[in-house]
Amino acid sequence: MTQSARSTADGAVASANLLFHLHARPCPVCGNTNDAHELYPQHLDPARIDGMSYASRKEPEYMSLRMVVCPECELLYAPQIPSADFLTRAYADTGYDSDSEARQAAASYAQALAGRMDLLPDRTAALEVGAGNGALLFHLRALGFTQVIGIEPSRDAALSAAPDLRELIRVESFDAARLPKAHFSLIIANQTLEHIDEPYRFLSAARTLLKPGGAVMIVSHNYRHWLMRLLGARSPIIDIEHLQVFSPASLSYALQRAGFAAPNIGPFANCYPLHYWIRLVPIPRALKRPLHAWLRNSAGGGIGGMMLRASVGNMLAWAHAPIL
Ligand SMILES: [Zn+2]
Repeated sequence: MTQSARSTADGAVASANLLFHLHARPCPVCGNTNDAHELYPQHLDPARIDGMSYASRKEPEYMSLRMVVCPECELLYAPQIPSADFLTRAYADTGYDSDSEARQAAASYAQALAGRMDLLPDRTAALEVGAGNGALLFHLRALGFTQVIGIEPSRDAALSAAPDLRELIRVESFDAARLPKAHFSLIIANQTLEHIDEPYRFLSAARTLLKPGGAVMIVSHNYRHWLMRLLGARSPIIDIEHLQVFSPASLSYALQRAGFAAPNIGPFANCYPLHYWIRLVPIPRALKRPLHAWLRNSAGGGIGGMMLRASVGNMLAWAHAPIL
């Protein structure tokens, strides 16, 4: 075994041990402590926890923390989660292999954003939390924002950014104290809210960073979507990396509790090539791997590269900070 292979193996064992030292928390949106309504039992396999468990847009693993529905705000959340230290390290060390998918997701986000630009007070400053390889930062600059900042905890993700986008990304976890108050016209957190251990605190902090009338844009999974209900525990949203999953009602509750005006929340359609969609389908790995490889190899001009737009359980929330 090489030195690096051994340290990777040691790291995986350490991750598995840490993961089993979970600590209890109340509902991370409203503080309710009644966790009796279990929707998914805990399902963890330490042998399969590796660096990729904490990367976004990966092949689903069907591992999950215990998930319950809050009787007060309807949030689906894990009442026992790993420590903040563990999560910070897991995301810093996470692998990254989804460059082209990130660019395709960013194009869908940018399209949704373009139709809402007139709702913003101005185009001075935009912040993206969970910026990945900076794919959306590229579009924010093109939309005319004079200052664009991305926050991304994964070193690998930030390192895969194009050089001119890399300089816009701060490789760190989100910390509102390190950002100017009442400064941004737009804050974006796409496919990020599920991974934050204190989502209410995050939204409250984000509101203080917005100038009056500034907006937050959030794309997240909707666990109440019919497809997620149909797939149940084999849905891609039920995964070890998700500390909570919102519904339209719980996301609206969280935003308003954090001081935003009544949000606009609707379904969000992604556009991806066929080979990417196949990765998310709950079929056996022995079948999926060769099928995905074949479609991916044909992606250039073949059937695997065919672009499909579909709303598969994502929603977009748009909410404004109050005008004082
Ligand atoms: Zn709650």
